[in-house]
Amino acid sequence: MKADAPKQPTDIFLATLNFDNAFVRELPADPDRSNRVRQVHRACYSRVQPTPVAAPQLVAYAAEVAELLDLHPASCAGEEFAQVFVGNHLLPGMDPYACCYGGHQFGNWAGQLGDGRAINLGEIINQRGQRWALQLKGAGLTPYSRRGDGLAVLRSSVREFLCSEAMYHLGVPTTRALSLLLTGEQVTRDMFYDGHPKQEPGAVVCRVAPSFTRFGSFQIFSSRNEIEPLRQLLDYTIRTDFPHLGAPSVAVYLQWFEELCRSTATMIVHWMRIGFVHGVMNTDNMSVLGLTIDYGPYGWIDDYNPDWTPNTTDAAGGRYRFGNQPQIALWNLAQLANAIYPLIEQTEPLEAALQIYGGCYKQGWQAMMAQKLGLKCFEADTDLPLTAELENVLQLVETDMTIFYRKLAELTPAGDQDDASLLAPLREAYYQPEAMTGDNQRQIAAWLRSYLQRVAKDGLEREVRRQRMHAANPKYVLRNYLAQMAIDKAEAGDHSLVNELLQVMRQPYAEQPEYEEFAGKRPEWARHRAGCSMLSCSS
Ligand code: AMP
Ligand code: MG
Repeated sequence: MKADAPKQPTDIFLATLNFDNAFVRELPADPDRSNRVRQVHRACYSRVQPTPVAAPQLVAYAAEVAELLDLHPASCAGEEFAQVFVGNHLLPGMDPYACCYGGHQFGNWAGQLGDGRAINLGEIINQRGQRWALQLKGAGLTPYSRRGDGLAVLRSSVREFLCSEAMYHLGVPTTRALSLLLTGEQVTRDMFYDGHPKQEPGAVVCRVAPSFTRFGSFQIFSSRNEIEPLRQLLDYTIRTDFPHLGAPSVAVYLQWFEELCRSTATMIVHWMRIGFVHGVMNTDNMSVLGLTIDYGPYGWIDDYNPDWTPNTTDAAGGRYRFGNQPQIALWNLAQLANAIYPLIEQTEPLEAALQIYGGCYKQGWQAMMAQKLGLKCFEADTDLPLTAELENVLQLVETDMTIFYRKLAELTPAGDQDDASLLAPLREAYYQPEAMTGDNQRQIAAWLRSYLQRVAKDGLEREVRRQRMHAANPKYVLRNYLAQMAIDKAEAGDHSLVNELLQVMRQPYAEQPEYEEFAGKRPEWARHRAGCSMLSCSS
């Protein structure tokens, strides 16, 4: 290109990204620049280049995330965008690296894990002064790849991309996803680790978050008794992501941990509200910003079952089942407390902070349930028994959690209604309404009557209650089978459903009658299909 030739708009917009790589600038680096698998000591990261791929092709991008980065939508459809966000081309100011961290996997200390297939490109400061780190998932080998290939497949990348954005629009704290690209290369995966490897299309997602620091980022240092880098990482995190806490000190470390106990409780309350099961709540998959991170074998509750987990790897133990998530978050926080203990050297305030988690979770859960049920506020006397019986009622027969709560808003106190007419507005929520016994009906109707009495006591106008409930009970969630249908199509070269689901999930609480087909309960064919009800960590 001649020096005076006008630049393409895409070049101009991408080139103006304002990089400020504080993480690499301020934290200790691995001095070894070779890209071979190794143990990395006393360092937060290793510099590593993404592996170039044959033929990047855009599948989808999230306009809202592009906007966060001040990227003009026109630059997202261009060739340069594809080259950059697949990892083939670095923009000026990018300084790629993989992070070192450890973690407890399924309750056992697993030692060094690290970004085995995630490569951070750098951090940008947008025009509003916000810091956003950009990270490619699936961009090739790093020093932390262990026995993996550093790659990701389309299937899991569609799931990560769509779910990040769905969660955001559902109001759940989460990492974001800018883009989903095909690499043009094939990747071998044995989806259920049962000796049936298959070739799958390779893909790269660009994730975006203020930081990707995990509980395990601290654990790795304390496990090795590397106290100085432990302190450096915590001081850095406080300065960068928690500036309101003031200059780092022992007291501020404790405040930081208390804040994390609160934000983690808030995140889990949201998961419980919308029926989200993370699936792999290992401590390396827990963000120190209280964000949902690492979308692997996650799932959404269709028929309400607190013992359900989509992750086949965890099917036997059910450690990460829906109803166990609040306990696991606390267990994970306790591991983080152990990790930062060397900087604090007092057990009591750390234990007190862990107590805060319990209190915040309880309070948050009660407020959330009051919203879901359209109550003014949670009143323990009446609402503890009411919600306890609801828990039973939801499990009497197969009941779709999302539809049940959504339709509950349509119920109105009326005089003498028989069981069948009382239940009528909820019919859609039942997987086999015809199989419901008279006893089931009586028990559900009895609960509905006590619920309506409770609602009447509040005296809220019907429309006010309805709106309140609709704001807490989504009509659309990223049901497993929906994501799988988008994957099936995308694997056949048709990206339309990925983009359509992204669009639906932009307004999950709105009626969107044109998308009614995505609000239905799980179809029968999806009940036992891989990807819909069974997922593994293979991705
Ligand atoms: P996950 O279960 O996805 O949170 O991953 C656990 C650890 O395994 C992390 O250190 C990942 O970076 C790493 N990992 C997962 N898949 C791969 C892969 N295909 N290649 C290299 N590392 C991987
Ligand atoms: Mg992970």
